[in-house]
Amino acid sequence: MERVKRLLAGARRLAVLTGAGISAESGVPTFRGPQGLWRNYRPEEIACMEAFLRDPVLVWEWYLERKKGIRAVEPNKAHHLLSRWEADRREAERGDFTLITQNVDGLHGRAGSKNILELHGNIWVTRCLACERQARDESLSYPELPPRCSCGGQVRPHIVWFGEMLDPEVLQASWDAAEGCDLFFVIGTSALVYPAASLPRVALEAGAAVVEINPEPTAFSDAATVSLRMKAVEFAEAMG
Ligand code: NAD
Ligand code: ZN
Repeated sequence: MERVKRLLAGARRLAVLTGAGISAESGVPTFRGPQGLWRNYRPEEIACMEAFLRDPVLVWEWYLERKKGIRAVEPNKAHHLLSRWEADRREAERGDFTLITQNVDGLHGRAGSKNILELHGNIWVTRCLACERQARDESLSYPELPPRCSCGGQVRPHIVWFGEMLDPEVLQASWDAAEGCDLFFVIGTSALVYPAASLPRVALEAGAAVVEINPEPTAFSDAATVSLRMKAVEFAEAMG
């Protein structure tokens, strides 16, 4: 912890990558583990275009249930710590800060983070299959499923599904942040899902120190400059 505090105090350009683990203590389950199953489906069987084309109602029912679950929880101390890092740096006009997240739950935004790169999209945004129009959408129910766009097209969640490409601009900005930072945190991600999982290595190879926060060892742990076997909230509390 002392080493991490020293690294943080000396960092000019800071970047953070978060995954499902940072929201776990808010009560949003990660995908791996028994809580990841829903009606006996694995996320890979629901969160993909094939599933949506076959049964859009089923896919929407899953997302509506997830939206209700997320609406009912609050950002935790770890989300708040990251929004404070950003605000402190902005106020001090010192260095810069980029938050990259694989999460779609919007909890970083609710905690006050501003500069967020959402690699996998956002569950509170929809997109029309026909005209691509995006809209902020807080609805927890619809008169019919799937919901329809004003153009008549079917509407889907604005989420990067299994088998889909990441938004190239968001990915490029994340890559630039990883390459250009001098300190990179990776919090609550199993470092298995590419290309997001490459970002800590990109940072390391560009000469940054990389700090990993995860209660379990990951494929990246051995390479990390510092790897703390801690839960995200425990880390936030230890940072004070
Ligand atoms: P993952 O489910 O593969 O891994 C979660 C990681 O978090 C694991 O390494 C686990 O050890 C760690 N973890 C568990 N509890 C933790 C805690 N309290 N503090 C810190 N770390 C903890 O998640 P992933 O790597 O992010 O990949 C799955 C993909 O599924 C994501 O990319 C995301 O798009 C999506 N997803 C999003 C949410 C969300 O928005 N909250 C939730 C589940 C899945
Ligand atoms: Zn449309």
